[in-house]
Amino acid sequence: MILETGIIPIEFLMDNAIDGIILFDLKSYNILFVNNTFCNILKVDKSKLEGISFLELVPDSEKKRFFNYITKLNKLYVREKNFTLKLLKYFKEPIEVELIGTFSKYDRHHSIFLGIVRDLSRTAKLENVFTAPTINFKEISESINDAICIIRINGRFIYASPRLPAILGNMEITSDFYDLIHPEDLGYIKDYLTKAAKDKKVVYLDPIEFRIIHKFSEYIWVEASIRKYLDKSNRLLGFIIVLREINERKKLEQELKNYHSELEKKNKELMELDEIKSEFLSNASHELRTPLVSIKGFTELLLNGSSGKLTKQQIEDLSIILRNTERIINLVDDLLDVSKLESGMFIINKKDFDIVELVYECVHELHHQIEAREHNIELHLPDHEIIVHADRNRIHQLITNLLDNAIKYTPKKGVIEIYLRKDDEKIHFFIKDNGIGLKQDEIKKIFKRFGKIYMPDEVDFVDARGTGLGLVICKGIVEKHNGKIWATSEGRNKGSEFHFIIPIK
Ligand code: ADP
Repeated sequence: MILETGIIPIEFLMDNAIDGIILFDLKSYNILFVNNTFCNILKVDKSKLEGISFLELVPDSEKKRFFNYITKLNKLYVREKNFTLKLLKYFKEPIEVELIGTFSKYDRHHSIFLGIVRDLSRTAKLENVFTAPTINFKEISESINDAICIIRINGRFIYASPRLPAILGNMEITSDFYDLIHPEDLGYIKDYLTKAAKDKKVVYLDPIEFRIIHKFSEYIWVEASIRKYLDKSNRLLGFIIVLREINERKKLEQELKNYHSELEKKNKELMELDEIKSEFLSNASHELRTPLVSIKGFTELLLNGSSGKLTKQQIEDLSIILRNTERIINLVDDLLDVSKLESGMFIINKKDFDIVELVYECVHELHHQIEAREHNIELHLPDHEIIVHADRNRIHQLITNLLDNAIKYTPKKGVIEIYLRKDDEKIHFFIKDNGIGLKQDEIKKIFKRFGKIYMPDEVDFVDARGTGLGLVICKGIVEKHNGKIWATSEGRNKGSEFHFIIPIK
């Protein structure tokens, strides 16, 4: 009930479980979740385990056994009996644990492994006690938490320890063992025991999980470790079964499965919404672009074709219309590029061209802005051509964007240096300014959508134009060329550097 009403969050329950709990992706082995108990067993901080591969915790000498175990496990309910494994503690000293695991399908491509981990190093120390001759079977069976049953092949009880009625909710046992089992599980358990009975080589059976009757909650889950009960001449008399209640663990597993399928559902919904949004963005941008281009064209026509007929005021007004229309067209073009990048429709047309010449061209095209802000441009370019195989228009857009930013975010009379180098088979371009610079947390944002940083209180020379989409497109262009882009800065007012590397071929 408490779980259903959501009063106790599932993470709390898992963190406080007696056993360690671990979840990892079965394809990559990346750890998805560990509870506090798991971290305590391995004496490691939770943060150290986030995102790492579970295999990093398995010593090399144990890897083969571990992979065998995983391969065997995909038989539903059937587990390798008492599978123990050494795991590396934080200080790289292995520790012995018992691992009880199940698979759960997360989505079409991913399965997760849910493991319960029990520290055996403490149990091992206690083992010697059992060699003491004074303790007899009955005393042990009555004092442990698991129920011990001995049954005949037909299911009739030979012995049941007092723990069995306790596990069943203090129910008096008047029936055969098989009558206690859930009807849906009974068939395969009988098959399982019959098969084992026929196989002379098997003495210990792999543990199985099933449901048994309970006085108050209909059925509960138990795990059974089973051994054949043989007489002196190795004739089968029945089975010795140790039952452990695992209802809480099963509940947690179920909660976890529900939790995952809920997450998966939400994820799908979000992806659908994102697709609708991208489609809307793309359609709206297309619809906007056509009338804008027409407004721009007619305004240019009026300005150029009506010389002498317009007043000074009219020319000024038309120029404002033209400038603003161009700004909106740029924004719409950026939106279209971003939606193409998102939908995988951003096409690259590669051909050979001289990138040194292209850099000169970009600088020349922006000379009005450079002059207006009285910037000092220092070019450190090779004195010979460098032919690259890339999309000339897109690289033009990339360099122009980086240069335009350097101009916008550097105060008047600032210095902007442009470097172009050929390193091995790669082109390394970078642009350095002595402008407003970037704080570390800002660097993380700027290559994301709408990563515009607003700082009206900090600096007053910044040109407020821009949408925060330019660097996303730059990143897309560089990645489409199998390259890398990054920014560095020492902080506010310490200038910035923007680098990209792309392969020549
Ligand atoms: P926009 O310039 O349109 O805002 P961009 O995607 O080109 O969008 O840049 C994102 C943000 O990165 C800018 O808002 C600015 O804060 C920061 N930025 C980009 N270039 C520089 C630079 N040279 N110096 C300082 N900050 C920069």
